[in-house]
This record gives sequence, structure tokens and C-alpha cells, in this order.
Amino acid sequence: MSGPVARPILRVSDLEVRYGGVPAVRGFGFEVYPGEVLGLIGPNGAGKTTTLFAIMGILEPSGGEIEFEGSVINRLPPERIARLGIAMVPEGRRIFSEFTVEENVRLGLMGRADAGGEADDLDWVYSMFPIIDEFRSRTAGQLSGGQQQQLAIARALVSRPRLLLLDEPTLGLAPVIVDTLFEALGQVRGRGVSMVLVEQRAQLAVQFADRTIVMRDGELVTSLEPSDASDADRLANAYFGS
Ligand code: ATP
Repeated sequence: MSGPVARPILRVSDLEVRYGGVPAVRGFGFEVYPGEVLGLIGPNGAGKTTTLFAIMGILEPSGGEIEFEGSVINRLPPERIARLGIAMVPEGRRIFSEFTVEENVRLGLMGRADAGGEADDLDWVYSMFPIIDEFRSRTAGQLSGGQQQQLAIARALVSRPRLLLLDEPTLGLAPVIVDTLFEALGQVRGRGVSMVLVEQRAQLAVQFADRTIVMRDGELVTSLEPSDASDADRLANAYFGS
């Protein structure tokens, strides 16, 4: 093997996060490389959402370090982290159902580092999600669950993040809609956006991601490759332990 080794876009080392005195994330660490999709799976309460919140600056770690593009970001507020180029699609989508689709998308512009190129970025997401383009003037509450999820992703993308954090994007969606959503995520990947994908559908995540890490009780358990997706025993073992 030869050639330059890419610097990770995100490096999480020895991360500790507590709620009150109770540890939720304990010495957790991983790296994401430019353009990589990293899956993050694990049972309920493993600490996945807590990890994403710590990266986004919503929760302050009690230990460890989070580096984005070589700079430590642990002590920065969420709006600064967003302007550096990280966006999050939270669990449950959090769209504004009384606002139009277009108004919801435009809310994402608030996370931008600068106002230049807004029109190009709006064109970018509308071309990526044609259904969102078509329904621009509808109120967001009229969209189906899968369409709302695409809207939430579009809203996150108009800030033109280099790293997108997705927390259970398929939650509550029917299987056929899940396929559509993953096609859309494939397009996001095609644009070179790095992603951390927290997903309950373990097999789907392992198949889609370049690499998937498994978390349990706040700690890293193992790492899986796409080829592990068809190995049900390996998946179940990694997920629940044996
Ligand atoms: P899920 O798949 O259920 O969303 P998760 O892997 O995202 O699970 P977290 O939500 O990060 O897990 O929770 C990690 C641990 O922290 C759990 O034990 C949970 O009960 C606890 N926890 C989460 N949020 C809080 C909170 N606001 N206050 C206290 N404890 C919390």
C-alpha cells in the first residue's frame, strides 16, 4: 500500500459524556474520513444520540476531545459548530408543520458561514430532492413521513455542511419509503458529504455505510464492514453481545 493517508474530517477521542453524575458515553472514540459514511449502531440507550449531541455542541463532554478538520471543537457553542460545516438531522425531524416546505428549507440557511452562494445551494438541494422541489409551496405538515424526512435532510444540506449527522432517519417509515430515503442519502454521498448515520435498522446501515461501528453501554464494541450485512449471526453478536 502506498499514497498519502487522508486526515480524518472528524476525530472523536476518549469521549465522556454524563447526565448529572451518570455516564452515558465512556471513553468512546472513532474517526470519519472525507467522503466517508460511518454507520453508528447499537441497542437503545447505548449512547448514540448523546454522542451526536456532543459533536454538535449541544452537550458538553466531561472528558475527551472532538476534532473537526484538525481543530478542537469541544467547547464551542452549536451555532459556531454549524458554521464550521457540521449539520445534524435530529431524530423526529423537527420540521415546522405550519410553515411551507420552502420556508422550512430556508431555515437551514441560518447555519451558513456566509450568505454568498445561497441560490446555488438551494438549487443543489431542490435538484437532489425533486419531491421537495415539487411541493415547495405546500405546508410541511401535508407531506408524508418520508417526504418530511427528505425535507429535514434538505434543510440541513442548505448550510452546505461537509459533515452530516443523521439520527435515526428511517424511524417510523414504511419499508418502501426507507428505500427511497436511502436512495436520497446515496445522492448526498455522491456529492462528497461525509456522514455519521445512527440507524436502528442495523443490516441496512451496515450495508450502506463504508464502515459501521457498534456501541453498547457508552463504549465501542466492534466495527463492521458492508460484507458483514449478510451475516446475521455476526450482526446479532455485535449488536447484543454473546
Ligand atoms: P436510542 O436508540 O434509544 O435513542 P441511544 O443509543 O441514542 O438510544 P442515548 O439516547 O444517547 O442512547 O442515551 C444514552 C444513555 O443516557 C441512556 O442510558 C439514557 O437513558 C441516558 N439519557 C439520555 N438522555 C438523558 C437525559 N436527558 N437525562 C438523563 N439521562 C439520559
